[in-house]
Amino acid sequence: MNLEKQLPSLAIVTGANRGIGLEVTRQLAHQNITVILGARDLEKGKAAAETLATEGFEVLPRWLDVTNQQSIDRLATEVKQKFGRLDILVNNAGILYDTWQQAIDANLDTVRTALETNVFGPWRMCQAFIPLLRQSQRGRIVNVSSGAGALTSMSGGIPAYGVSKAALNALTRKLADELKGTGILVNAVCPGWVATEMGGAGGRPIEQGAAGIVWAATLPENGPTGGFFRDQKPLAW
Ligand code: NAP
Repeated sequence: MNLEKQLPSLAIVTGANRGIGLEVTRQLAHQNITVILGARDLEKGKAAAETLATEGFEVLPRWLDVTNQQSIDRLATEVKQKFGRLDILVNNAGILYDTWQQAIDANLDTVRTALETNVFGPWRMCQAFIPLLRQSQRGRIVNVSSGAGALTSMSGGIPAYGVSKAALNALTRKLADELKGTGILVNAVCPGWVATEMGGAGGRPIEQGAAGIVWAATLPENGPTGGFFRDQKPLAW
């Protein structure tokens, strides 16, 4: 009998104090997965965890700013000491849907800010946690991307966001290939247009957007890797 397989899974979700990240946390906890709720403002993270507790879900709020290497290293050390492994990493934190800009004259400091959170954030997280994902028998990485990062359908506008998500998709391919044979499955998922603070009114319910991310986070051993999905269906890169 494989004892490791009987342990409850352990997940980290970044940007989990609100929006899609909070709902992904809720849905993973609903599957009896132990979830570390990452929040760049710990007070907001604790408040979100309290809300989940009133619904019967115990999660672990932690300070996690994906632009801050110290916060990432601190959490990696804690997870290593307490759990010795990580099963699921959901890189959800994302910013700067810059509908007001065009690539021809975009403020490059703004672009850099988007890349720092949307690309270097997940990249830092992966570098810090892949050693712990390697200790799992079912490592899963989900990079929360966007159709706005798809090159085949890319149009003008929203330059910081679009370029950052295209780069995140490229990172997904690189990591998936480099991790082949380790059991770690790496995929990018677009949640669709979702009614959050970022998405605004008119988008679909958060539960629906989160479901495709949870699917990719809990793929079976023979599940896909190096893919780009929305609602469990492949999307063109
Ligand atoms: P949201 O409501 O704006 O929430 C974003 C979350 O990310 C917040 O919890 C925010 O924390 C956190 N965050 C921002 N910077 C961070 C950092 N440096 N470190 C850690 N956390 C940070 O956005 P959302 O709609 O839920 O989006 C979640 C993901 O889905 C993003 O990657 C987004 O690009 C993607 N997405 C969304 C849509 C949509 O229609 N909503 C569509 C496609 C893709 P604070 O509360 O502290 O600001």
